[in-house]
Amino acid sequence: MDLGINGRRALVGASSKGLGLGCATALAEAGVDLVMNARGAEALEAAAADLRERYGVSVTTVAADITSEAGRAEVLAAADSPDILVTNAGGPPPGLWSDWDRDDFIAALDANMLTPIALMKACLPGMMDRGWGRVVNITSQSVKAPIPQLGLSNAARTGLTGYVAGTARQVASSGVTINNLLPGIHATDRADALDGPVAQSKGISIDEARAARAATIPANRYGTAAEFGQACAFLCSVHAGFIVGQNLLADGGATNATI
Ligand code: NAP
Repeated sequence: MDLGINGRRALVGASSKGLGLGCATALAEAGVDLVMNARGAEALEAAAADLRERYGVSVTTVAADITSEAGRAEVLAAADSPDILVTNAGGPPPGLWSDWDRDDFIAALDANMLTPIALMKACLPGMMDRGWGRVVNITSQSVKAPIPQLGLSNAARTGLTGYVAGTARQVASSGVTINNLLPGIHATDRADALDGPVAQSKGISIDEARAARAATIPANRYGTAAEFGQACAFLCSVHAGFIVGQNLLADGGATNATI
């Protein structure tokens, strides 16, 4: 399918690996020029070179912490009013409800709520002026059904979801859509980081821990960054212009809900 976004320009945050890279890859495949970001320069440059080579699009890299004001300023300067914004950052650490103090919450809110909000505030005016724009926020299935050990993530992402619900409806008449894409369990470094401690605490191998977790998903497998990226690219396409303020689960059926 022609997504109708060839030649558009996108900013994809936190995109040297995992789900962010999946989104950058699918957008590059659709002919979109990219600004990609991550803290580590080496993996970022390698990912960018690969996309330039495979899809012939322009890719600018900015090695910076997207959750810091200075990092965001660098990334936004390079992106120069993009048509498409995909927000992403690392997820907060797991723990118990009683583990976290104010500073932990502030860090989680900064990364997973206030950073995407700041990026939207910076990018929406240009999109609205031009009468076309797409924003996809990578959030989590945890906004639909809580993941008990990820209380910081549950809290911060739900705050972002509330902001998007109202804002998406304020900008839609300008041809700009904002939606959230909610990953369930995907095979990325983040999933490994969560599976490792489970394997250790249960005295099983990481493969056994993965198989046990996959068995909790109706699809009986982890998602891939590639298929997540294609869903993101569709939401960024010309065909998705009437999809506004939605929270789309990509979780293999894991969230047991009728609607
Ligand atoms: P990942 O494989 O660990 O990749 C994270 C990417 O983000 C890397 O490119 C990393 O590069 C970059 N990054 C992290 N912190 C950053 C920062 N402060 N500034 C700029 N770049 C940053 O993670 P993932 O699995 O793709 O997860 C992406 C998001 O989806 C996370 O918020 C995660 O919590 C959420 N999520 C993931 C899953 C899953 O199963 N994978 C499920 C639900 C939600 P550097 O380290 O070099 O910066």
